[in-house]
Amino acid sequence: MANPALLHHNDTQFAKIIVELCPGVYTAVGYAASTQHMIVGEHSITIVDTSESTAAAENVLAEFRKISDKPIARIIYTHSHRDHISGASVFSEGREIPILASAAFSSDLVGQDASAIAPNQALNRRTQAQFGIGLSSEQRVSLGCGPGDRPMKGMGAGHIPPNQLIAGDTDIDLDGVQARLIMAPGETADHMVIWLPELKVLIPGDNWYHAFPNLYAIRGTPYRDFAAWADSLALLDQLGAEVLAPGHTMPVFGAERVHEVLTTTREAILHVMQHTVDGMNAGHSLDDIAASIELPAGIANKPWLGEFYGKASWSARSFATGTLGWYDGNPTHLGTLSSVQRANQMAALAGGVQALQQAAETTDDLQWQLELCDHLIALGEPVQLIKAAAMEALADDEINATARNTYLWEAERLRKQAADA
Ligand SMILES: [Zn+2]
Repeated sequence: MANPALLHHNDTQFAKIIVELCPGVYTAVGYAASTQHMIVGEHSITIVDTSESTAAAENVLAEFRKISDKPIARIIYTHSHRDHISGASVFSEGREIPILASAAFSSDLVGQDASAIAPNQALNRRTQAQFGIGLSSEQRVSLGCGPGDRPMKGMGAGHIPPNQLIAGDTDIDLDGVQARLIMAPGETADHMVIWLPELKVLIPGDNWYHAFPNLYAIRGTPYRDFAAWADSLALLDQLGAEVLAPGHTMPVFGAERVHEVLTTTREAILHVMQHTVDGMNAGHSLDDIAASIELPAGIANKPWLGEFYGKASWSARSFATGTLGWYDGNPTHLGTLSSVQRANQMAALAGGVQALQQAAETTDDLQWQLELCDHLIALGEPVQLIKAAAMEALADDEINATARNTYLWEAERLRKQAADA
């Protein structure tokens, strides 16, 4: 089972389709985690973003080739996340061609240095959990930002580093199609959006997609600059685009609609910031700040702010720790109880380990059940199956794809652990 809203999001945003944005400009949706774009010039083609795998890139190129057989003259990367840069070898068709990206091109995901002191194993495990790698496609449903079902062959294999770095906003002629490359930090600091002023088409990379913005990714990401993202959305809104073709999900048509999705998404980011600041200033805990966040009534029900990918409560935690770090101002948190120490105290309060286990088995609050199971696991009690079942029940209800995948991925891990014990 899965939340019907998540199934609907997957069906409506990630069905495989080549969308014509205007004569000569096309977007491939649903072939990969991300979207790819083709701009057909007089004698040549420009490709924007290249997917996460050579297999997906081959499928997209085959579709694009049904529309135009002109040579591909250049590739542009909107930013450096792997799901946008890993099919370049396919689109370059064996030739050396210009590959353009922001001069700030770099990533938390590119060029992981195995010799550096860095939590790379944790990042890899959490990335697999977030994207449900190894789950069946029925279990996975969706990536939040892309279809649950996508080709995995050649994952990460087709990356070619950019060979033309763009240092500031730049006008460029794409073989007869006027374009402006605009620096617009947002989901990453190295975002470069593509604006086609004559055609009124805007390719914003991942600074906008049809889901709550992923201000914090649970796979683990350094702090994303909330204020810069909000500023970039204001900048994009001023362009007056009539078509918005995001780095994930379906394009948006109509100047008014584009204006509405950009401004309300900006409003959502500013709201997370303000709510968190107010809570921090009032001395509230991160739990209370996260538990109390709600979008304002005017934007709460906008379908493109559904928490299919990012989540307001996670974003609030990230903004708080990203600005003032982990200490929340409560001196209790200056000291530390280990998990085992806390679990022993909880068991004593509950009237013993047996009583604690009974509470874990009988509560109908799934979040509380997880927390009680964690105490019992710290004490070495075999409650893996109880925790797994609680996570599976949470996954059934969950609208957020990365949370759903993580619950199911970790539940599978616990079930294996219990079977091996
Ligand atoms: Zn992306």
